Amino acid sequence: MRVTFVGVGEAFDETLANTSLLVESDAGSILLDCGFTAASAFRGVAERPLELDGVYLSHFHGDHWFGLPALLVRSMEEGRTRPLTVLGQPGVAQKVTALMEMAYGGALAKAKFDLRFTQCEPGRTVDLAGFRLNFAPGTHSVPCLAVRVESGDASLFYSGDGTPTDATRALAKGCSLARARDLFPGTGQGEPRDRGLVPGLCPRHRGRDPGPGPRRPAGAPGAAAGNPGPDSTIFRL
Ligand SMILES: [Zn+2]
Repeated sequence: MRVTFVGVGEAFDETLANTSLLVESDAGSILLDCGFTAASAFRGVAERPLELDGVYLSHFHGDHWFGLPALLVRSMEEGRTRPLTVLGQPGVAQKVTALMEMAYGGALAKAKFDLRFTQCEPGRTVDLAGFRLNFAPGTHSVPCLAVRVESGDASLFYSGDGTPTDATRALAKGCSLARARDLFPGTGQGEPRDRGLVPGLCPRHRGRDPGPGPRRPAGAPGAAAGNPGPDSTIFRL
């Protein structure tokens, strides 16, 4: 499994793209969240963007799914024919269809690829493109589902914006890598019971005002898992 941090920025950061992760294996690829600015950032890092198999939406805040119209319409312009699945909480099909109508009315009807939807719920396993996905609810201002993505022996936990719950801690346990909000707040000095949950852990997205120091994704990605170089945004699990 290869995990590329497409973005690590918070909702309205003027420099860093919205938090989004591209997960790839020999069998396929999935994008975790696609906010306002993540779609463009995805095009900047993906080697084969038209081969993307799925987009997982952790919750329906704009910085996690309002990039979908850009991603979809650009794929149409470039002649995509491969089916694409959007995964998300109940209502995902209606919400994405409505968003597309507002952004580019009539565009979906002209797509030459099949846009599919998969509803995600805690306790239900979803298999897509060689990945196995499981979900658990975190705590956020709107319903938010954390996801565990597995491929072979590799596993990734992604919280979206959800803060930890017993269910998300259980989901994260033993993962090869986690990008988690407040599981280990900022410096890795999280709650004692969270320490040791996962071997590699990346803090939540950066704040918009990180204070002095270089504006790059400090600690996440990079230092947490130890395997990539200091400037790398890619983890190989
Ligand atoms: Zn949110």
